[in-house]
Amino acid sequence: MGRAGTTTNWAKNQSCVPASTAAPTTVGQLADLVRQATERGDRVKAIGAGHSFTAAAMTTGTLISLDNMPTDLQVDAQGRVRVGAGMTLHALSQRLHDRGRALPNLGDIDVQTIAGATQTATHGTGRHKPNLSAQITGFELVTGRGEVRWCDAETNTEVFVVGRVGLGALGIVTRVELATVPSFNLHAVETVELLDDVLDDWESFTTSAEHAELFWLPGSRKALVKRNHRTTREPDRFEQQKALVEKILVENVAFGAAMKAIRRFPSRRTQVLGLMANLTQSTDRVGRSHDVFASPRHVRFVEMEYGIPIDAMPEAVRRVRDVVESLDDPPSFPIEVRVSAADDIALSTAEGRDSGWIAVHRYRGADHEPYFRAVESILDDYDGRPHWGKLHFQTCETLAGRYPQWDRFAAVRAEVDPHGTFANAYLDRVLGHVGV
Ligand SMILES: Cc1cc2nc3c(=O)[nH]c(=O)nc-3n(C[C@H](O)[C@H](O)[C@H](O)COP(=O)(O)OP(=O)(O)OC[C@H]3O[C@@H](n4cnc5c(N)ncnc54)[C@H](O)[C@@H]3O)c2cc1C
Repeated sequence: MGRAGTTTNWAKNQSCVPASTAAPTTVGQLADLVRQATERGDRVKAIGAGHSFTAAAMTTGTLISLDNMPTDLQVDAQGRVRVGAGMTLHALSQRLHDRGRALPNLGDIDVQTIAGATQTATHGTGRHKPNLSAQITGFELVTGRGEVRWCDAETNTEVFVVGRVGLGALGIVTRVELATVPSFNLHAVETVELLDDVLDDWESFTTSAEHAELFWLPGSRKALVKRNHRTTREPDRFEQQKALVEKILVENVAFGAAMKAIRRFPSRRTQVLGLMANLTQSTDRVGRSHDVFASPRHVRFVEMEYGIPIDAMPEAVRRVRDVVESLDDPPSFPIEVRVSAADDIALSTAEGRDSGWIAVHRYRGADHEPYFRAVESILDDYDGRPHWGKLHFQTCETLAGRYPQWDRFAAVRAEVDPHGTFANAYLDRVLGHVGV
Protein backbone atom coordinates (compact mmCIF):
# COMPACT_ATOMS: atom_id res chain seq x y z
CA MET A 1 0.00 0.00 0.00
CA GLY A 2 1.20 3.49 -0.77
CA ARG A 3 0.71 6.96 0.60
CA ALA A 4 -1.83 8.89 -1.38
CA GLY A 5 -2.09 12.40 -2.69
CA THR A 6 -5.25 14.00 -4.00
CA THR A 7 -7.32 11.95 -6.46
CA THR A 8 -9.62 13.78 -8.88
CA ASN A 9 -12.11 12.60 -11.45
CA TRP A 10 -11.98 13.38 -15.20
CA ALA A 11 -14.22 16.45 -14.92
CA LYS A 12 -12.19 17.68 -11.91
CA ASN A 13 -15.39 18.43 -9.98
CA GLN A 14 -14.76 15.65 -7.42
CA SER A 15 -11.65 14.99 -5.37
CA CYS A 16 -10.56 13.09 -2.30
CA VAL A 17 -7.45 12.41 -0.26
CA PRO A 18 -7.47 8.67 0.44
CA ALA A 19 -5.67 7.41 3.54
CA SER A 20 -3.73 5.03 1.28
CA THR A 21 -3.73 3.55 -2.21
CA ALA A 22 -3.19 -0.01 -3.38
CA ALA A 23 -2.81 -1.76 -6.71
CA PRO A 24 -2.82 -5.50 -5.94
CA THR A 25 -1.51 -7.94 -8.52
CA THR A 26 -3.65 -10.96 -7.57
CA VAL A 27 -7.19 -11.50 -6.35
CA GLY A 28 -5.73 -13.20 -3.25
CA GLN A 29 -3.82 -10.02 -2.31
CA LEU A 30 -6.93 -7.95 -2.89
CA ALA A 31 -9.09 -10.26 -0.73
CA ASP A 32 -6.51 -10.07 2.11
CA LEU A 33 -6.47 -6.30 1.87
CA VAL A 34 -10.27 -6.07 2.06
CA ARG A 35 -10.52 -8.58 4.93
CA GLN A 36 -7.93 -6.67 6.98
CA ALA A 37 -9.65 -3.36 6.28
CA THR A 38 -12.98 -4.81 7.43
CA GLU A 39 -11.37 -6.14 10.61
CA ARG A 40 -9.97 -2.67 11.36
CA GLY A 41 -13.31 -1.03 10.53
CA ASP A 42 -11.73 0.86 7.61
CA ARG A 43 -13.24 1.57 4.21
CA VAL A 44 -11.96 0.65 0.76
CA LYS A 45 -13.12 1.78 -2.68
CA ALA A 46 -12.23 0.67 -6.20
CA ILE A 47 -11.72 3.36 -8.80
CA GLY A 48 -11.92 2.71 -12.52
CA ALA A 49 -10.99 5.40 -15.03
CA GLY A 50 -12.41 8.16 -12.79
CA HIS A 51 -15.00 9.19 -15.39
CA SER A 52 -17.96 9.51 -13.05
CA PHE A 53 -19.16 13.04 -12.40
CA THR A 54 -20.47 11.96 -9.00
CA ALA A 55 -18.25 11.10 -6.04
CA ALA A 56 -19.05 7.40 -6.59
CA ALA A 57 -15.36 6.41 -6.65
CA MET A 58 -14.09 8.84 -3.98
CA THR A 59 -12.96 7.70 -0.53
CA THR A 60 -11.08 8.74 2.57
CA GLY A 61 -10.14 5.08 3.12
CA THR A 62 -8.01 2.92 0.82
CA LEU A 63 -8.38 3.58 -2.89
CA ILE A 64 -7.90 0.44 -4.98
CA SER A 65 -6.83 0.30 -8.59
CA LEU A 66 -7.02 -2.88 -10.67
CA ASP A 67 -4.30 -1.60 -13.02
CA ASN A 68 -1.83 -4.31 -11.96
CA MET A 69 -4.28 -7.22 -12.11
CA PRO A 70 -4.05 -9.86 -14.89
CA THR A 71 -5.33 -8.74 -18.30
CA ASP A 72 -5.74 -12.15 -19.95
CA LEU A 73 -8.86 -12.55 -22.08
CA GLN A 74 -10.73 -15.70 -23.08
CA VAL A 75 -13.61 -16.08 -25.51
CA ASP A 76 -15.64 -19.31 -25.22
CA ALA A 77 -17.56 -21.22 -27.89
CA GLN A 78 -20.76 -19.23 -27.13
CA GLY A 79 -18.92 -15.95 -27.73
CA ARG A 80 -18.77 -14.99 -24.06
CA VAL A 81 -15.61 -13.12 -23.11
CA ARG A 82 -14.03 -13.43 -19.67
CA VAL A 83 -11.66 -10.60 -18.83
CA GLY A 84 -10.06 -8.54 -16.03
CA ALA A 85 -12.63 -5.99 -14.79
CA GLY A 86 -10.10 -3.14 -14.81
CA MET A 87 -9.59 -3.33 -18.58
CA THR A 88 -10.94 -0.34 -20.50
CA LEU A 89 -13.83 -0.74 -22.93
CA HIS A 90 -11.48 0.56 -25.61
CA ALA A 91 -8.87 -2.17 -25.00
CA LEU A 92 -11.63 -4.78 -24.75
CA SER A 93 -13.17 -3.68 -28.06
CA GLN A 94 -9.78 -3.79 -29.83
CA ARG A 95 -8.97 -7.23 -28.48
CA LEU A 96 -12.43 -8.56 -29.26
CA HIS A 97 -12.15 -7.23 -32.79
CA ASP A 98 -8.93 -9.23 -33.28
CA ARG A 99 -11.04 -12.32 -32.48
CA GLY A 100 -13.92 -11.31 -34.75
CA ARG A 101 -16.18 -10.25 -31.84
CA ALA A 102 -17.64 -7.00 -30.51
CA LEU A 103 -19.82 -5.53 -27.78
CA PRO A 104 -23.29 -4.93 -29.24
CA ASN A 105 -23.44 -1.32 -28.06
CA LEU A 106 -21.29 1.37 -26.43
CA GLY A 107 -21.79 4.89 -25.09
CA ASP A 108 -20.16 8.09 -26.33
CA ILE A 109 -16.72 7.20 -25.00
CA ASP A 110 -14.86 3.95 -24.40
CA VAL A 111 -12.12 4.93 -21.93
CA GLN A 112 -14.07 3.69 -18.89
CA THR A 113 -13.13 0.40 -17.25
CA ILE A 114 -15.50 -2.53 -17.69
CA ALA A 115 -16.23 -2.61 -13.94
CA GLY A 116 -16.67 1.14 -13.60
CA ALA A 117 -18.97 1.38 -16.62
CA THR A 118 -21.16 -1.56 -15.66
CA GLN A 119 -21.38 -0.74 -11.93
CA THR A 120 -23.11 2.55 -12.86
CA ALA A 121 -25.29 1.08 -15.66
CA THR A 122 -23.52 2.87 -18.51
CA HIS A 123 -25.59 2.79 -21.70
CA GLY A 124 -25.47 3.83 -25.33
CA THR A 125 -28.48 4.37 -27.53
CA GLY A 126 -30.78 1.88 -29.26
CA ARG A 127 -34.52 1.20 -28.98
CA HIS A 128 -33.88 -2.52 -28.59
CA LYS A 129 -30.43 -2.33 -26.95
CA PRO A 130 -30.12 -2.59 -23.17
CA ASN A 131 -27.19 -1.12 -21.21
CA LEU A 132 -23.73 -2.65 -20.87
CA SER A 133 -24.53 -4.25 -17.51
CA ALA A 134 -27.22 -6.39 -19.17
CA GLN A 135 -24.46 -8.02 -21.25
CA ILE A 136 -22.85 -9.46 -18.12
CA THR A 137 -23.21 -13.24 -17.78
CA GLY A 138 -20.97 -13.62 -14.72
CA PHE A 139 -18.49 -11.83 -12.49
CA GLU A 140 -15.98 -12.45 -9.73
CA LEU A 141 -16.52 -10.39 -6.59
CA VAL A 142 -14.38 -9.74 -3.52
CA THR A 143 -16.98 -9.20 -0.80
CA GLY A 144 -16.72 -7.14 2.39
CA ARG A 145 -16.01 -10.39 4.24
CA GLY A 146 -12.89 -10.81 2.09
CA GLU A 147 -14.35 -13.82 0.23
CA VAL A 148 -13.84 -14.33 -3.50
CA ARG A 149 -17.15 -15.34 -5.12
CA TRP A 150 -17.92 -16.22 -8.73
CA CYS A 151 -21.49 -15.11 -9.46
CA ASP A 152 -23.60 -16.15 -12.46
CA ALA A 153 -27.03 -17.55 -13.30
CA GLU A 154 -26.23 -20.83 -11.48
CA THR A 155 -23.82 -19.80 -8.70
CA ASN A 156 -24.47 -17.05 -6.14
CA THR A 157 -27.49 -16.26 -8.29
CA GLU A 158 -28.99 -13.52 -6.14
CA VAL A 159 -25.70 -11.58 -6.00
CA PHE A 160 -25.36 -12.04 -9.77
CA VAL A 161 -28.88 -10.84 -10.52
CA VAL A 162 -28.59 -7.58 -8.61
CA GLY A 163 -24.80 -7.07 -8.64
CA ARG A 164 -24.46 -6.31 -12.34
CA VAL A 165 -25.28 -2.71 -11.33
CA GLY A 166 -23.77 -2.50 -7.86
CA LEU A 167 -22.57 1.13 -7.64
CA GLY A 168 -19.41 -0.36 -6.14
CA ALA A 169 -21.45 -1.05 -2.98
CA LEU A 170 -21.35 -4.84 -3.05
CA GLY A 171 -17.62 -5.42 -3.38
CA ILE A 172 -14.75 -5.22 -5.80
CA VAL A 173 -15.40 -6.83 -9.16
CA THR A 174 -12.20 -8.45 -10.40
CA ARG A 175 -13.28 -10.39 -13.49
CA VAL A 176 -16.30 -10.03 -15.74
CA GLU A 177 -17.89 -12.34 -18.30
CA LEU A 178 -19.87 -10.61 -21.05
CA ALA A 179 -21.96 -11.78 -23.98
CA THR A 180 -20.50 -10.57 -27.28
CA VAL A 181 -21.65 -10.56 -30.90
CA PRO A 182 -19.77 -11.08 -34.16
CA SER A 183 -17.84 -7.93 -35.21
CA PHE A 184 -19.96 -5.52 -37.22
CA ASN A 185 -19.65 -2.25 -39.08
CA LEU A 186 -21.88 0.76 -38.72
CA HIS A 187 -23.09 3.21 -41.31
CA ALA A 188 -23.24 6.53 -39.45
CA VAL A 189 -25.59 9.11 -40.92
CA GLU A 190 -25.79 12.55 -39.29
CA THR A 191 -28.42 15.04 -40.38
CA VAL A 192 -29.71 18.38 -39.13
CA GLU A 193 -33.49 18.24 -38.52
CA LEU A 194 -36.14 20.31 -36.76
CA LEU A 195 -36.44 19.18 -33.16
CA ASP A 196 -40.24 19.43 -33.26
CA ASP A 197 -40.43 17.21 -36.34
CA VAL A 198 -38.44 14.49 -34.57
CA LEU A 199 -40.54 14.75 -31.40
CA ASP A 200 -43.82 14.74 -33.38
CA ASP A 201 -42.80 11.42 -34.90
CA TRP A 202 -40.97 10.10 -31.83
CA GLU A 203 -41.78 6.38 -32.23
CA SER A 204 -40.50 6.38 -35.84
CA PHE A 205 -37.39 8.25 -34.76
CA THR A 206 -36.52 5.67 -32.09
CA THR A 207 -36.81 2.81 -34.58
CA SER A 208 -35.31 4.65 -37.55
CA ALA A 209 -31.93 3.01 -36.87
CA GLU A 210 -30.48 0.39 -34.52
CA HIS A 211 -28.87 3.33 -32.69
CA ALA A 212 -30.59 6.72 -32.96
CA GLU A 213 -29.86 9.82 -30.87
CA LEU A 214 -30.06 13.58 -31.15
CA PHE A 215 -28.34 16.68 -29.86
CA TRP A 216 -30.41 19.84 -29.53
CA LEU A 217 -28.45 23.08 -29.35
CA PRO A 218 -30.26 25.53 -27.02
CA GLY A 219 -31.33 28.66 -28.83
CA SER A 220 -31.88 26.80 -32.10
CA ARG A 221 -34.96 25.01 -33.47
CA LYS A 222 -32.70 22.39 -34.99
CA ALA A 223 -31.13 19.18 -33.74
CA LEU A 224 -28.19 17.14 -34.95
CA VAL A 225 -29.64 13.64 -35.45
CA LYS A 226 -27.24 10.68 -35.45
CA ARG A 227 -28.36 7.34 -36.82
CA ASN A 228 -26.04 4.33 -36.81
CA HIS A 229 -27.19 1.46 -39.01
CA ARG A 230 -25.57 -1.95 -39.17
CA THR A 231 -24.05 -2.51 -42.59
CA THR A 232 -22.09 -5.09 -44.54
CA ARG A 233 -20.15 -2.27 -46.23
CA GLU A 234 -16.45 -2.09 -45.36
CA PRO A 235 -14.90 1.00 -43.73
CA ASP A 236 -12.93 3.29 -46.00
CA ARG A 237 -9.65 4.00 -44.21
CA PHE A 238 -9.25 7.50 -45.60
CA GLU A 239 -12.87 8.37 -44.79
CA GLN A 240 -12.37 6.98 -41.27
CA GLN A 241 -9.33 9.16 -40.61
CA LYS A 242 -11.01 12.21 -42.11
CA ALA A 243 -14.08 11.63 -39.92
CA LEU A 244 -11.93 11.25 -36.80
CA VAL A 245 -10.05 14.49 -37.54
CA GLU A 246 -13.38 16.28 -38.13
CA LYS A 247 -14.80 14.86 -34.91
CA ILE A 248 -11.80 16.03 -32.92
CA LEU A 249 -11.79 19.44 -34.58
CA VAL A 250 -15.51 20.16 -34.41
CA GLU A 251 -16.57 18.29 -31.24
CA ASN A 252 -13.50 19.26 -29.23
CA VAL A 253 -11.33 22.08 -30.59
CA ALA A 254 -14.01 24.30 -32.16
CA PHE A 255 -16.47 23.46 -29.42
CA GLY A 256 -13.91 24.27 -26.70
CA ALA A 257 -13.10 27.60 -28.35
CA ALA A 258 -16.81 28.40 -28.65
CA MET A 259 -17.41 27.64 -24.95
CA LYS A 260 -14.52 29.93 -23.96
CA ALA A 261 -15.78 32.69 -26.26
CA ILE A 262 -19.28 32.49 -24.77
CA ARG A 263 -17.96 32.65 -21.23
CA ARG A 264 -15.87 35.71 -22.09
CA PHE A 265 -18.48 37.47 -24.25
CA PRO A 266 -21.91 36.19 -23.07
CA SER A 267 -23.74 38.78 -25.20
CA ARG A 268 -22.30 37.09 -28.33
CA ARG A 269 -23.77 33.71 -27.39
CA THR A 270 -26.28 33.54 -30.25
CA GLN A 271 -23.70 34.41 -32.94
CA VAL A 272 -21.15 31.90 -31.58
CA LEU A 273 -23.77 29.13 -31.43
CA GLY A 274 -24.85 30.00 -34.96
CA LEU A 275 -21.25 29.51 -36.14
CA MET A 276 -21.08 26.17 -34.31
CA ALA A 277 -24.34 25.03 -35.93
CA ASN A 278 -22.86 25.78 -39.36
CA LEU A 279 -19.79 23.70 -38.55
CA THR A 280 -22.01 20.76 -37.56
CA GLN A 281 -22.69 19.59 -41.11
CA SER A 282 -24.43 16.41 -42.13
CA THR A 283 -22.04 13.47 -42.46
CA ASP A 284 -22.18 9.94 -43.78
CA ARG A 285 -19.52 7.27 -43.19
CA VAL A 286 -18.89 3.58 -42.50
CA GLY A 287 -16.68 2.37 -39.66
CA ARG A 288 -16.08 -0.47 -37.25
CA SER A 289 -18.74 -0.45 -34.54
CA HIS A 290 -16.47 0.63 -31.67
CA ASP A 291 -14.87 3.40 -33.75
CA VAL A 292 -18.29 4.81 -34.65
CA PHE A 293 -19.85 4.59 -31.17
CA ALA A 294 -17.08 6.32 -29.22
CA SER A 295 -15.38 9.69 -29.71
CA PRO A 296 -12.50 11.43 -27.92
CA ARG A 297 -13.67 14.09 -25.43
CA HIS A 298 -11.17 16.88 -24.73
CA VAL A 299 -13.52 19.66 -23.63
CA ARG A 300 -14.18 19.14 -19.90
CA PHE A 301 -17.74 19.47 -18.70
CA VAL A 302 -20.09 18.25 -15.98
CA GLU A 303 -23.21 16.31 -16.80
CA MET A 304 -26.55 15.13 -15.41
CA GLU A 305 -28.57 12.44 -17.20
CA TYR A 306 -31.98 10.99 -16.39
CA GLY A 307 -33.84 7.93 -17.65
CA ILE A 308 -37.63 8.20 -17.93
CA PRO A 309 -40.30 5.99 -19.57
CA ILE A 310 -39.66 6.13 -23.30
CA ASP A 311 -43.17 7.26 -24.27
CA ALA A 312 -42.93 10.32 -22.01
CA MET A 313 -39.96 11.68 -23.96
CA PRO A 314 -41.63 14.07 -26.45
CA GLU A 315 -43.45 15.91 -23.65
CA ALA A 316 -40.46 15.87 -21.28
CA VAL A 317 -37.98 17.08 -23.92
CA ARG A 318 -40.30 19.99 -24.81
CA ARG A 319 -40.68 20.91 -21.13
CA VAL A 320 -36.88 20.82 -20.72
CA ARG A 321 -36.55 23.00 -23.81
CA ASP A 322 -38.97 25.56 -22.35
CA VAL A 323 -37.06 25.68 -19.08
CA VAL A 324 -33.69 25.98 -20.82
CA GLU A 325 -34.96 28.87 -22.93
CA SER A 326 -36.27 30.69 -19.85
CA LEU A 327 -32.97 30.55 -17.92
CA ASP A 328 -31.12 33.80 -17.18
CA ASP A 329 -27.85 32.06 -17.99
CA PRO A 330 -28.74 29.53 -20.72
CA PRO A 331 -26.32 26.66 -21.39
CA SER A 332 -24.23 26.52 -24.55
CA PHE A 333 -23.84 22.75 -24.48
CA PRO A 334 -26.21 20.61 -26.55
CA ILE A 335 -28.86 18.51 -24.80
CA GLU A 336 -28.44 14.84 -25.66
CA VAL A 337 -31.43 12.56 -26.18
CA ARG A 338 -31.06 8.77 -26.36
CA VAL A 339 -33.11 5.60 -25.85
CA SER A 340 -32.48 2.11 -24.54
CA ALA A 341 -34.27 -1.15 -23.80
CA ALA A 342 -35.51 -2.33 -20.41
CA ASP A 343 -33.60 -4.84 -18.27
CA ASP A 344 -34.24 -6.73 -15.03
CA ILE A 345 -31.33 -5.51 -12.85
CA ALA A 346 -32.50 -4.11 -9.49
CA LEU A 347 -30.74 -0.73 -9.56
CA SER A 348 -30.36 -0.37 -13.30
CA THR A 349 -31.72 2.97 -14.44
CA ALA A 350 -33.69 1.07 -17.12
CA GLU A 351 -35.03 -1.61 -14.75
CA GLY A 352 -38.45 -2.77 -15.92
CA ARG A 353 -38.98 -0.05 -18.48
CA ASP A 354 -37.84 0.93 -21.96
CA SER A 355 -36.17 4.26 -21.33
CA GLY A 356 -35.54 7.60 -22.91
CA TRP A 357 -32.53 9.59 -21.75
CA ILE A 358 -32.11 13.33 -21.38
CA ALA A 359 -28.59 14.55 -20.65
CA VAL A 360 -27.66 18.14 -19.81
CA HIS A 361 -24.14 19.50 -19.62
CA ARG A 362 -22.33 22.55 -18.45
CA TYR A 363 -18.82 23.70 -19.20
CA ARG A 364 -16.53 22.92 -16.23
CA GLY A 365 -16.33 25.90 -13.90
CA ALA A 366 -19.76 27.34 -14.86
CA ASP A 367 -22.48 27.22 -12.19
CA HIS A 368 -24.45 24.13 -13.21
CA GLU A 369 -26.72 23.86 -10.17
CA PRO A 370 -29.68 26.16 -11.06
CA TYR A 371 -29.88 24.61 -14.54
CA PHE A 372 -29.55 20.99 -13.42
CA ARG A 373 -32.03 21.46 -10.56
CA ALA A 374 -34.59 23.02 -12.90
CA VAL A 375 -34.29 20.07 -15.31
CA GLU A 376 -34.29 17.53 -12.49
CA SER A 377 -37.55 18.89 -11.11
CA ILE A 378 -39.21 18.28 -14.48
CA LEU A 379 -37.87 14.74 -14.73
CA ASP A 380 -39.05 13.98 -11.18
CA ASP A 381 -42.57 14.20 -12.62
CA TYR A 382 -41.80 11.13 -14.76
CA ASP A 383 -40.27 9.07 -11.93
CA GLY A 384 -36.90 9.92 -13.44
CA ARG A 385 -33.93 7.81 -12.45
CA PRO A 386 -30.55 9.57 -12.45
CA HIS A 387 -27.49 7.98 -14.03
CA TRP A 388 -25.44 6.78 -11.02
CA GLY A 389 -22.23 8.18 -12.48
CA LYS A 390 -23.64 11.62 -13.36
CA LEU A 391 -24.58 14.57 -11.18
CA HIS A 392 -27.98 14.71 -9.49
CA PHE A 393 -29.46 15.91 -6.20
CA GLN A 394 -31.42 12.82 -5.10
CA THR A 395 -31.11 10.90 -1.84
CA CYS A 396 -32.08 7.38 -0.81
CA GLU A 397 -35.38 8.78 0.46
CA THR A 398 -36.32 10.20 -2.95
CA LEU A 399 -34.91 7.27 -4.94
CA ALA A 400 -36.18 4.16 -3.15
CA GLY A 401 -39.74 4.42 -4.52
CA ARG A 402 -38.46 4.66 -8.10
CA TYR A 403 -36.88 1.20 -8.00
CA PRO A 404 -39.33 -1.70 -7.42
CA GLN A 405 -36.41 -4.00 -6.48
CA TRP A 406 -34.78 -1.53 -4.05
CA ASP A 407 -35.18 -3.80 -1.00
CA ARG A 408 -33.82 -6.77 -2.90
CA PHE A 409 -30.60 -4.85 -3.56
CA ALA A 410 -30.42 -3.72 0.08
CA ALA A 411 -30.73 -7.34 1.28
CA VAL A 412 -27.82 -8.46 -0.92
CA ARG A 413 -25.76 -5.46 0.20
CA ALA A 414 -26.34 -6.30 3.87
CA GLU A 415 -25.21 -9.88 3.20
CA VAL A 416 -22.04 -9.20 1.18
CA ASP A 417 -20.93 -5.98 2.88
CA PRO A 418 -22.30 -6.24 6.44
CA HIS A 419 -19.84 -3.71 7.89
CA GLY A 420 -20.06 -1.07 5.16
CA THR A 421 -16.48 -1.58 4.02
CA PHE A 422 -17.34 -0.30 0.52
CA ALA A 423 -19.44 2.65 1.67
CA ASN A 424 -18.48 6.25 0.98
CA ALA A 425 -20.24 9.59 1.28
CA TYR A 426 -21.98 9.18 -2.10
CA LEU A 427 -23.36 5.74 -1.24
CA ASP A 428 -24.44 6.92 2.22
CA ARG A 429 -26.48 9.60 0.45
CA VAL A 430 -28.02 7.60 -2.39
CA LEU A 431 -28.33 4.10 -0.88
CA GLY A 432 -28.33 4.84 2.84
CA HIS A 433 -26.05 3.46 5.54
CA VAL A 434 -25.13 -0.17 5.91
CA GLY A 435 -23.35 -1.82 8.84
CA VAL A 436 -22.11 0.09 11.86
C1 LIG B 1 -16.86 12.30 -21.17
C2 LIG B 1 -17.79 11.27 -20.57
C3 LIG B 1 -18.69 10.61 -21.41
C4 LIG B 1 -19.57 9.67 -20.88
N1 LIG B 1 -20.44 9.03 -21.72
C5 LIG B 1 -21.34 8.15 -21.21
C6 LIG B 1 -22.29 7.49 -22.05
O1 LIG B 1 -22.30 7.67 -23.28
N2 LIG B 1 -23.21 6.68 -21.46
C7 LIG B 1 -23.25 6.48 -20.11
O2 LIG B 1 -24.13 5.76 -19.65
N3 LIG B 1 -22.33 7.04 -19.30
C8 LIG B 1 -21.38 7.86 -19.81
N4 LIG B 1 -20.45 8.44 -18.97
C9 LIG B 1 -20.45 8.05 -17.55
C10 LIG B 1 -19.49 6.88 -17.30
O3 LIG B 1 -19.70 5.82 -18.20
C11 LIG B 1 -19.70 6.32 -15.88
O4 LIG B 1 -19.61 7.33 -14.92
C12 LIG B 1 -18.71 5.19 -15.55
O5 LIG B 1 -19.01 4.73 -14.26
C13 LIG B 1 -17.26 5.60 -15.59
O6 LIG B 1 -16.44 4.45 -15.56
P1 LIG B 1 -15.04 4.50 -14.82
O7 LIG B 1 -14.25 3.30 -15.21
O8 LIG B 1 -14.40 5.82 -15.02
O9 LIG B 1 -15.50 4.30 -13.32
P2 LIG B 1 -15.29 5.27 -12.05
O10 LIG B 1 -15.94 6.56 -12.33
O11 LIG B 1 -13.86 5.26 -11.66
O12 LIG B 1 -16.14 4.46 -10.98
C14 LIG B 1 -17.54 4.37 -11.11
C15 LIG B 1 -18.10 3.47 -10.01
O13 LIG B 1 -17.70 2.13 -10.24
C16 LIG B 1 -17.03 1.64 -9.07
N5 LIG B 1 -15.99 0.72 -9.49
C17 LIG B 1 -14.94 0.97 -10.30
N6 LIG B 1 -14.21 -0.14 -10.45
C18 LIG B 1 -14.83 -1.10 -9.71
C19 LIG B 1 -14.55 -2.48 -9.43
N7 LIG B 1 -13.51 -3.09 -9.97
N8 LIG B 1 -15.41 -3.14 -8.64
C20 LIG B 1 -16.50 -2.53 -8.09
N9 LIG B 1 -16.78 -1.25 -8.29
C21 LIG B 1 -15.95 -0.55 -9.10
C22 LIG B 1 -16.49 2.86 -8.38
O14 LIG B 1 -16.22 2.62 -7.01
C23 LIG B 1 -17.62 3.82 -8.60
O15 LIG B 1 -18.66 3.56 -7.71
C24 LIG B 1 -19.55 9.37 -19.48
C25 LIG B 1 -18.63 10.03 -18.65
C26 LIG B 1 -17.76 10.98 -19.19
C27 LIG B 1 -16.77 11.68 -18.29
